[in-house]
Amino acid sequence: MSSVELPRVSDFQRVVFFTGAGMSAASGVPTYRGKGGIWKSYDYEAYACQEAFDRDPAAVWEFHNYRRQLVGECEPNEGHALIARCEAAQPAVTIVTQNIDGLHQSAGSKRVLELHGSLWGVRCDGTGERRLSRDIPFAGRRADGLWWRPDIVWFGDMLRDDVIQSALDLIGQCDLFVSIGTSAVVFPAARMPFYARQGGATLVEINPEETPVSHLYDVCARESAVDALRRMCHGLD
Ligand code: NAD
Repeated sequence: MSSVELPRVSDFQRVVFFTGAGMSAASGVPTYRGKGGIWKSYDYEAYACQEAFDRDPAAVWEFHNYRRQLVGECEPNEGHALIARCEAAQPAVTIVTQNIDGLHQSAGSKRVLELHGSLWGVRCDGTGERRLSRDIPFAGRRADGLWWRPDIVWFGDMLRDDVIQSALDLIGQCDLFVSIGTSAVVFPAARMPFYARQGGATLVEINPEETPVSHLYDVCARESAVDALRRMCHGLD
């Protein structure tokens, strides 16, 4: 197991943790592409796009309620807790996540930008309403006959402009950028280290496997999120 020297979070002023599915692997949330990515065995794309929802919203909700049930049984892991501790100890720590599981917030993090929305968010495109609900199952059909839609960025959806812009601003201005558990093949994940590098940040990648953008990082920790974060967050109050 690698024991590369890692920078300490407490030595930096503006820190961005950029997290992907590997962050939640220790919580039992399945990843897509890494080793053991069990979503591979589901025809995920058939249920996670607007066309499927327009065709059969009840079937799409059945699938998402199954996801709610799976993820709802998962607890934040020590890595989520360590990041929440960093945020509590230092003023300018932000999490930019591709995850939709809400586990950073469950661990106590407040400054979380969810690039791909949330499994716990719903919206009604007919009325423009948005809300959070932890209901399992969530009843997608409304009393007025319209449907709530999972407020997740599905295949073919655009990212929310306000969220992506805030993320890019923070990443361009940070002095420590820590990528954790993302295969970095999905836009905009693949671009994030470029923005951080342009801004002059120190870049750390935490991932047991190499990624297509690993060469952009100053330090690559080929280990689990929890092991690397224990070292990086050492010494925080
Ligand atoms: P991914 O599944 O493509 O890649 C996961 C990465 O995590 C892999 O590179 C793998 O090597 C690494 N990894 C596995 N275990 C790890 C560990 N213990 N510590 C550190 N790294 C570990 O995930 P992605 O890059 O986030 O992109 C896929 C998309 O899937 C994203 O859009 C995300 O929204 C979505 N997704 C989210 C969740 C979730 O909310 N938890 C789960 C699956 C997929």
